[in-house]
Amino acid sequence: MDLLRVSAARHFQLFTTSCRNMHLLKKQAYVNGEWVQASSNAVFPVLNPADDSVIAEVPDMDAADAKTAVDAASNTFKTWKNTTVKERSYILRKWNDICLQNVDHLAEIMTAESGKPLAESKGEIAYGTSFLEWFADTARHINGEIIPGPWPNKKILVTRHPLGVVSVITPWNFPFAMITRKVGALMAAGCTCVIKPSEDTPLTALAAVELAVQAGVPKGVINVVTSSRKNAAGVGKVMCEDPAVGCISFTGSTHVGKILYGMAAKGIKRVSLELGGNAPFIVFPSADMEHALDHAMLAKFRNNGQACVAGNRFLIHESVFDKFVEGFKGRIGQKCVLGPGNKEGVTCGPLVNKAQAEKVTGLVDDAVAKGAKVLLGGKIAKHLGDKFYESTLLVDVKPDMAIYQEEVFGPVAVCYKFKDEAEALEVANSTRSGLASYVFTKDLGQAFRMSEKLEFGMVGINDGILSSCEPPFGGIKESGIGREGSKHGVEEYTDLKYTLMSALDK
Ligand code: NAP
Repeated sequence: MDLLRVSAARHFQLFTTSCRNMHLLKKQAYVNGEWVQASSNAVFPVLNPADDSVIAEVPDMDAADAKTAVDAASNTFKTWKNTTVKERSYILRKWNDICLQNVDHLAEIMTAESGKPLAESKGEIAYGTSFLEWFADTARHINGEIIPGPWPNKKILVTRHPLGVVSVITPWNFPFAMITRKVGALMAAGCTCVIKPSEDTPLTALAAVELAVQAGVPKGVINVVTSSRKNAAGVGKVMCEDPAVGCISFTGSTHVGKILYGMAAKGIKRVSLELGGNAPFIVFPSADMEHALDHAMLAKFRNNGQACVAGNRFLIHESVFDKFVEGFKGRIGQKCVLGPGNKEGVTCGPLVNKAQAEKVTGLVDDAVAKGAKVLLGGKIAKHLGDKFYESTLLVDVKPDMAIYQEEVFGPVAVCYKFKDEAEALEVANSTRSGLASYVFTKDLGQAFRMSEKLEFGMVGINDGILSSCEPPFGGIKESGIGREGSKHGVEEYTDLKYTLMSALDK
């Protein structure tokens, strides 16, 4: 962080001079209804990945601050859980409405700290608010059951109850939607929360919470603890192990998910884990090629490849491989415009930080050293800066290359040729990840077979974008536990209680 601070200071340029919509830029954390500093008074800089300028400095909170926030959420839970679903629904809808009135302001902050193009930031806000609206509705349908029992004069009642304080730990790649998808659901259920956003993107989280305050969310229901990477483990330990925490709701890498799952296990805490992906994008000979190519662009280059559901391995049938690759190359060359996210016409921004740029560079260099062929891109566009990776297309990729096995999380499309359906399935399933998958075919039987046999939580048939608030979002295997969105999303934050009503004849 010190190095970062020195480099940031060198490029110091106040964001205020370039940002028109400043009133949502909060520079303090939010705990128990107050905008606060860290108890140590430490701060860390939030950098614009396009030019390393400092957007703002925010509190670098530690374990003691996390404890204060958990206590506030725990105290507030005593009253919040007793609010009616109608009240909670009303507040969530109001939060949704206020966010929609502030799309431009939120988007400007998001683009500054995450690097994504403004249009994509606006798209994320539309997607993220859809969860607030959805859970405003869902709150009214958290129903119980009355089950006929085996005994006369007794009744079985099943009711749902909020499970307490939820620790919400979120990544930088969707800094707004990953929060609303969780917080909308947990608030609808009657829980309170402590949010720890990524070091790279705390400002979007703080802006979203400022709008929650304006919407009338009572103090202590939402608390935000900002911290640098240096303090993440200490803050995370409190958020996972404090006895007052009922659930850890995490979105991020499988590596960190495993660490948090281990800590949650000590207290037998509920977990909701949305982890890394390695999505196959499979094209069969019967596919509508132009449609498949359009969706390949969406699946790969949205958020510059930094999405958990991004197409990671393009598996193309040998009979259409050359046609697909040629079409993909043409589209990438035409449609991917690299540059700062706030520049008109840019479709691909910088990678979020230096580590991410180094990771992508390492994966491509390793593949090339082992025989992969670069058809487009393949390196950092140095004239733009050290985090702008060229939109890249690779062929001749083999299983011994790291890029074949790992989630790339960058603008690199990797194409692999297969012979038949069995081979496509074998390659697609040969990973411990199981989040999203995509299949392009006009053969109805094949579509059903693939849906059945792909070991993934989500399958898009003839579509490269499958996220919305209505279906259950989530993965299997090492991609996670639990589902977000849909009518099931709220269940993650409730416990079932069975009450036996007996002696009804007495
Ligand atoms: P990450 O490194 O796992 O970080 C995620 C969050 O965890 C950040 O807030 C991070 O803080 C925090 N963190 C890191 N170590 C921690 C610890 N020991 N205790 C507590 N918190 C800790 O993931 P990322 O690089 O931000 O995001 C990319 C990953 O997220 C990819 O693998 C992607 O596939 C996955 N993802 C999954 C979904 C999904 O729905 N399945 C959605 C989006 C992203 P710092 O950032 O400050 O280190």
